[in-house]
Amino acid sequence: MKRSVPFEQEHEIFRDSLKRFLENECVPHLEKWCDSGVMPREYWKKLGEQGALCPWVAEEYGGMGADFLFSVVLAEEIARYLGDSAVGVPLHSDMVMPYIASYGSPEQKAQWMPAAVTGEKISAVAMTEPGAGSDLAAIRATAKRDGDGYVINGQKTFITNGTQADLVVLAVKTDTEVSPHQGMSLFVVERGTPGFTVSEKLEKIGIPFQDTAEMYFEDCRVHTDNLLGEEGKGFIYLMEKLQQERLVVSMSAQVRAEVILEDTIEYCRSRELFGKPLSSMQNTQFKVAEMATEIELGRTMIDRLIVEHMKGEDIVTEVSMAKWWITEMLNRVANQCLQLHGGYGYMVEYPVARAWVDARVQTLYAGTTEVMKMIIAKRMGL
Ligand SMILES: Cc1cc2nc3c(=O)[nH]c(=O)nc-3n(C[C@H](O)[C@H](O)[C@H](O)COP(=O)(O)OP(=O)(O)OC[C@H]3O[C@@H](n4cnc5c(N)ncnc54)[C@H](O)[C@@H]3O)c2cc1C
Repeated sequence: MKRSVPFEQEHEIFRDSLKRFLENECVPHLEKWCDSGVMPREYWKKLGEQGALCPWVAEEYGGMGADFLFSVVLAEEIARYLGDSAVGVPLHSDMVMPYIASYGSPEQKAQWMPAAVTGEKISAVAMTEPGAGSDLAAIRATAKRDGDGYVINGQKTFITNGTQADLVVLAVKTDTEVSPHQGMSLFVVERGTPGFTVSEKLEKIGIPFQDTAEMYFEDCRVHTDNLLGEEGKGFIYLMEKLQQERLVVSMSAQVRAEVILEDTIEYCRSRELFGKPLSSMQNTQFKVAEMATEIELGRTMIDRLIVEHMKGEDIVTEVSMAKWWITEMLNRVANQCLQLHGGYGYMVEYPVARAWVDARVQTLYAGTTEVMKMIIAKRMGL
């Protein structure tokens, strides 16, 4: 497929070596990871050795100081080879650590970034609570100032990388008297801090090796050094970073749709019925043509947004459009591709079966389809 993103030779070299690594060293273990429900820590470290985690981090903190296109390559190839279950990798690399890079002090960056680059420390972002998902302003977790620290109480749920996370960027209220937009703050809470515990991995219908979990904070004391940026600015920080988070999720969803269609075209060529290949039947050709058209539209949109995001433009409206449309398109494609597989599509040994179940989460996390539409309508002045 033709791309309008200005990839250069360095990005293609990175892509080739990452592809080789994922294909040879990760793909053979996917079934084992699905059974155990987690991507083992040693593979995080191997990804770190590949320079694949947080490639954008400045050299002084152990990174390569690479541009955003390295992150694009990472998200695309992880989605292509490891599927939706591995969403925790781009989440760590391009959704969580950017909070520390943008709002952390030099000391905080020196403390946490190098180990995130090597994969020795895995990160998570904890916003959602049992009583507050789409309505982020309604979170109830609090951090109360106490001497040289804060005491955190509350519960978070559905946290990606939850069971393995060493660093959690946590959204809490530091002031419940003012509006949530002024009373929210972000903290980095480290694994092992007394009062911070994590549940077993939550049982989900899909993305089997993503270790999504609940987190509990009971009189969990952290030092003021764990406050990220300024007290009371948490809501603004979250809003600032959601553009990139939603862009990365959309990029992954786009690649998933492309991969499922490629796989299905191959299947349709090899499957014979009524004495001819399934691919030669007009219904198949029309369905494939429709899906290819939608995928091309998604690709055109996402590539444009990657370029605009790199220029630092405000693309919140367009990214919200991409997030809901591409993730819904992925679900349409997965469903139609499963149909073209007939009964085999319902058998777990066929990739399309897993792809169909896994795709379902994409319209939910990182802001639901409905929340994206609310943002678009609001920004249109409605
Ligand atoms: C696998 C997985 C991983 C996740 N990872 C993380 C993570 O790492 N960190 C994190 O903080 N969160 C994470 N989440 C949480 C995710 O972001 C939330 O599930 C999502 O934001 C929706 O919130 P909710 O589940 O509370 O649904 P609700 O907010 O209760 O929404 C219920 C329904 O109401 C709709 N709705 C919402 N507002 C309106 C409205 N105004 N009008 C009409 N309908 C509306 C929603 O679209 C949805 O269909 C994850 C979720 C999943 C499933």
